[in-house]
Amino acid sequence: MTTDSAYERFCSLVDAAAADAGITDTGLIARIKRPERIHTVAIPLRRDDGRQEIYTGYRVQHSSARGPYKGGIRYHPQVDLDEVMALAGWMTIKTAVVDIPMGGGKGGIIVDPHNLSPRELESLTRGYMDLIWHDIGPQLDVPAPDVNTNSQTMDWLADEFARLTKTDAPAVVTGKSLAHGGSAGRDTATAQGGFDVLDAALTAAGQSFAGKKVAIQGFGNAGSNAAQLLEHAGAIVVAASDSSATLVAAAGLPIQRLADHKAAGMSFASLAEFTRLDPGAALFEPVDILVPAALEGQLTAENAGRVKARWVLELANGPTTSEADEILAAAGVTVLPDILANAGGVVVSYFEWVQNLNGERWTRPEVEARLAVTMRRAYDAVAELAARRGHGLRQAAYVIALQRLIDAMAGHKLKARRAAKSSAKAAAP
Ligand code: NAD
Repeated sequence: MTTDSAYERFCSLVDAAAADAGITDTGLIARIKRPERIHTVAIPLRRDDGRQEIYTGYRVQHSSARGPYKGGIRYHPQVDLDEVMALAGWMTIKTAVVDIPMGGGKGGIIVDPHNLSPRELESLTRGYMDLIWHDIGPQLDVPAPDVNTNSQTMDWLADEFARLTKTDAPAVVTGKSLAHGGSAGRDTATAQGGFDVLDAALTAAGQSFAGKKVAIQGFGNAGSNAAQLLEHAGAIVVAASDSSATLVAAAGLPIQRLADHKAAGMSFASLAEFTRLDPGAALFEPVDILVPAALEGQLTAENAGRVKARWVLELANGPTTSEADEILAAAGVTVLPDILANAGGVVVSYFEWVQNLNGERWTRPEVEARLAVTMRRAYDAVAELAARRGHGLRQAAYVIALQRLIDAMAGHKLKARRAAKSSAKAAAP
């Protein structure tokens, strides 16, 4: 039975990478692991029936060494601080792996948004901003969507920020709708970036997508868009799950139809014409490529041995525990790690931020071309280090990220020293 929490998992990954990179400064490693700031808020909500309720929300600001805190906000009944701390840390690592000038943060509200009306959801979202707006901003902390939040949520947050600060600052959040300063390509960016990474990895192995069988766990933003891209590239999606069921079809599932079904707010369990298994079954189907695109901690010491895929594309954050990672590596499975594979979302978020700050609008092909360059460059660096050091891609990605983070932290120190010197000079008689 595995006992490590998500944050412990993040810390042990940092420890392992630090040991690998020969970083022995324990104080520095401790600083890298600990979030710089943690905000906990109590959000009041007046329900439609008049009842007053209080919801707990978090914003964890992990690291600003490389730029403003950056990371999504999720609405889920199982959000807890440990998990948000881990997700924030992963954002710091992720922005460093793909080398964009941003740090790491994450937020969440403990709520099942499916139980709220649209008015209640808007009120809760604005209420969250009312409590955190002092601590966020285009140059300070830039939230984005995550599980159960979307462009509508981001539009409400941006609008509330504008109302509170009396400024028009669309760059305060990313993942907005196109009408409110969102970027072309943001909706499909996570899947597109993962696809670019998998494409690079398959090409390097002398393989292609043609005829490859795919199973996808989670059919939300990341999973459904990945299904469409993989199908378009010639792969066959034979299994896909949401939280209600896994659908299986040996000849391939009708991806567009499933996406329309989900967009209409219906679950897979209601699709009686397909073979339906339990939601977790997608992980163990006989396929070439497995795409975990749901939640953390799905592949564990107990079940990793049942994975039949040769490639795992981690679109979800933290879907694989450290023990599962070892089991998969020993079985010869190539795991394309979350901090690289799902970084497309934050890369295009960064593009959106740049466009907002410069008053620009890039087309979808422009965004996708820039994304592909960024993702392939990141993959090449990670794959090269992994090959040179003889270890897995995850460890290599962490080593690269840690090195960039430490360089930036040293830069911070230098800047602080220079500032102290010049103010000392100015103060001298
Ligand atoms: P989403 O809310 O759009 O979709 C989540 C999907 O997972 C839904 O289809 C849900 O039914 C399904 N699901 C939930 N529990 C499940 C279970 N136990 N078994 C099977 N399916 C289950 O969320 P999303 O934005 O697609 O995010 C999914 C994952 O990808 C998360 O880990 C998130 O942190 C990560 N991620 C998302 C983005 C992004 O831009 N959307 C970026 C980076 C990482």
